[in-house]
Amino acid sequence: MQDKINTFMDEVRSRNGHEPEFLQAVQEVAETVIPYIASQEIYNGKNILLRMVEPERAITFRVPWVDDDGEIHVNRGYRIQMNSAIGPYKGGLRFHPTVDMSILKFLAFEQTFKNSLTTLPMGGGKGGADFDPKGKSDDEIMRFCHSFMSELFRHIGPNTDIPAGDIGVGGREIGFLFGMYRKLRNEFTGVLTGKGLTWGGSLIRPEATGYGTVYFAENMMKTKNDSFDGKTVVISGSGNVAQFAAEKALHLGAKVVTLSDSSGYILDEDGIDEEKLEFVMTLKNEKRGRISEYIDTYSNAKFFEGETPWEVPCDIALPCATQNELNGEDAQKLLENGCICVSEGANMPSMPEAIAEFHKAKILFAPGKASNAGGVATSGLEMSQNSLRMSWSSEEVDNKLKDIMNDIHEKCLEYGDDGNGFTDYVKGANIAGFVKVADAMLAQGV
Ligand code: GLU
Repeated sequence: MQDKINTFMDEVRSRNGHEPEFLQAVQEVAETVIPYIASQEIYNGKNILLRMVEPERAITFRVPWVDDDGEIHVNRGYRIQMNSAIGPYKGGLRFHPTVDMSILKFLAFEQTFKNSLTTLPMGGGKGGADFDPKGKSDDEIMRFCHSFMSELFRHIGPNTDIPAGDIGVGGREIGFLFGMYRKLRNEFTGVLTGKGLTWGGSLIRPEATGYGTVYFAENMMKTKNDSFDGKTVVISGSGNVAQFAAEKALHLGAKVVTLSDSSGYILDEDGIDEEKLEFVMTLKNEKRGRISEYIDTYSNAKFFEGETPWEVPCDIALPCATQNELNGEDAQKLLENGCICVSEGANMPSMPEAIAEFHKAKILFAPGKASNAGGVATSGLEMSQNSLRMSWSSEEVDNKLKDIMNDIHEKCLEYGDDGNGFTDYVKGANIAGFVKVADAMLAQGV
């Protein structure tokens, strides 16, 4: 079997040699899906996974914009339309200086599996730009977003491709992007998700990724007759996903002790309660400040510059920052300090060596494509509400989100059982995500 996987990876590497993140994401899927394909007559000889790793379309474009001093800058914009076998392309836009083809292809590939798992009819896509929003004024952000959309609009649409936010793209950016799309097309449609509540957005969409990550972890804990109540939780990141993961963990009776950003992490051993979390939300969302400023107000807390929070003892870890933020040594530290559950809020935050450690120790580990699917699932619910020209209450959306997370968890149990009472959620998510897309591709022909 390993030969088959190696041959497949050699072929993928020969075409995508300079794309390390993409190769990492494909390798993880190949290791679990290729043995499954080999065991299923219907997929034999169809080269289905090789077809899935090639984007249906990859667009790059120029994004020129003018800063507040009148200086002209140029960034590169992208949209990867990965797979539309089960629905229109769907996935976020990331604005970050590290954005390139490798990062976006890995994200679009993961998105295809994740969207399939949500039970909703959405294909996979991802896009963004190598633009750094840090330190930019609102006007500069607006001009960048308008320029970005003045090219992207011709490639997307409510039945074609529906972008949303990701790192560096939140409510403010979605507003500017939507404004330009509406002008250019003279149409008011649900072409983007994560919209403001007064213009087609869904309640619970901002909360959904973080809440969903915790709902998924709650489901995993239930399989051990355990819960969040009284548990110590370590969270990385301090953006949208981390904020609402922390909020939901608090609602469930846990104590959250860390948050982080690219400059380091804060440790508050008394626990980041609702009031302190409110402070963080204002600090990050409105003042666009750094997490280190937390200790200026809460002097009992400590700031660890340039460090990640994985050395802090905890029961549950929620990596909610970015890809490859947790390595093999970090995983060992978490395990030594008693961590029993890891649920990824970010996309691919755990490196392969870290996942191997978690699997070896047989703790509960959920890959982002299952545990952070609540965000895009609620985007799917936003699309449904837009099509119906209706809006659902918070309770309705939250209940649907919970049902979807339960469903994804069930699917992981179904396909991830190793036969010895251990659930490999990576295998479960990969195979369950694969089956739906592969079956649609087979039905539709080459
Ligand atoms: N960027 C989010 C993700 O990684 C959400 C995408 C969406 O809502 O379309 O799933």
